[in-house]
Amino acid sequence: MATGETHDTSTAVKTLPFALVALAALPAPLAARTPPAPPPTVEQRADSALKNDRLAWGFVEGITTEVGPRQAGTEAEARGRQWAMAWLRAQGFANVADEPFQMDTWVPGTIHRAEVVSPFAQPLVIQPLGDSAATPAGGLTAQVVMFRTVDELRAAPAGSLAGKIAYISHAMTPTQDGSHYGFAGPARWVGAGIAASKGALATVIKSIGTDWHRNPHTGGTSFPAGVAPTPAGALSLPDAANLERMFARAGGRPITLRLEMNPQRLGQTTSGNVVGEIVGRDPSLPPVLVACHIDSWWNGTGAFDDAAGCGIVAAAARHATAGAQPLRTVRVLMAGAEEVGLHGSVAYSAAHRDQPIAVGLESDFGADRIYRFNSNFRAANRALHDRIAAALVLFGVSTSDEVATGGADINIARDQRTAIIDLQQDGTRYFDLHHTPDDTLDKIDPAQLRQNVAIWTTVIGILANERETILPAGQAPGSGGSR
Ligand SMILES: [Zn+2]
Repeated sequence: MATGETHDTSTAVKTLPFALVALAALPAPLAARTPPAPPPTVEQRADSALKNDRLAWGFVEGITTEVGPRQAGTEAEARGRQWAMAWLRAQGFANVADEPFQMDTWVPGTIHRAEVVSPFAQPLVIQPLGDSAATPAGGLTAQVVMFRTVDELRAAPAGSLAGKIAYISHAMTPTQDGSHYGFAGPARWVGAGIAASKGALATVIKSIGTDWHRNPHTGGTSFPAGVAPTPAGALSLPDAANLERMFARAGGRPITLRLEMNPQRLGQTTSGNVVGEIVGRDPSLPPVLVACHIDSWWNGTGAFDDAAGCGIVAAAARHATAGAQPLRTVRVLMAGAEEVGLHGSVAYSAAHRDQPIAVGLESDFGADRIYRFNSNFRAANRALHDRIAAALVLFGVSTSDEVATGGADINIARDQRTAIIDLQQDGTRYFDLHHTPDDTLDKIDPAQLRQNVAIWTTVIGILANERETILPAGQAPGSGGSR
């Protein structure tokens, strides 16, 4: 990877301060003869992380191997929290805790079947969407009505889907910034609810994804108030394409699908947010909050989404502060139950809203390289924005005028109208893997993962030692300016 090649020649010099820090632990007579070493600079820490980090990989490798899938609200997610807390304690984090909250929990069940009954009988590969209802035992069989887009479905007359199964297609394209998720996503987010409100018995969608493997992409769907949930599933892209070819060949004959799925609602169960801190020297200064989420969908091991994010932020918090206590506390938040409705992020904000944070940032877009830095304080605190931007240039990261809005796990930063930073990752292959059985450790490129850790080390190192207010109160973009 090109971003790491510029400083290879100075490895020995730049890693020397770490060795000097280690000398401080030697017996007194020898230490007395050794001049005290300055702690490594932010640049040296980041450079070392870029070449040598093992912590982030270790986190992802460990949790995907020892815990595996971590469906929100289940005992598997609870084991994930226990694993993460043990890891944080082993890495020297303080105040490690599991902050529990209650949630309404859905589980996928074990039967996920679809088959075309006529005119071209054959099985299709399907998985349920989060919040899907179960079919009757033994399944349901009905005619399929195809919609090319959600807007086409929206335009269908009221009641026109009574007794039918709605199928929704779309045309999602891979993009570096993942922006096509916003274009294609509504087929999953709201399609089943719209179809149900028009009388559909069930909804089947083309997976919201960009790969051509027979791996359905699951993810949450939703039903409007007053509309009873129906069965809702995602076909893999090859299976969706097959179904669409059937429509082209059927010559007007009805296409009949049999669908059988048995997801379940468990009622209220306990989830939780894992927190841990590197405690700063000045407790009067609001902390730097770095976030990720600990849950995953049941069908993969949640390596990209989002064990990688947790490994990146926690490893960087460690590297940015090792051997020199930071000015501000760095708090790691590994949010629970993000995938099924941001429950952990909402609960964290509700519990801590009156405890100001200085800045919030999260990693939740896989493990590929970071290419852009944005903040919401470029106008209000240009000097700091420019200092961070300048420090990231050597990693191949640019900046822009775009105002950072943060991700799913940092509701608290938006609720407090505080400083937010986005470190945008390359999402070109993210939606090949997102919410599929293919979200596994082997998909992570160790060199790109280390590039993430190095950049996060830089950013945390700067923020945690910044004495001035990062975003002055009332200066948040869109907050009505300074009054
Ligand atoms: Zn995620």
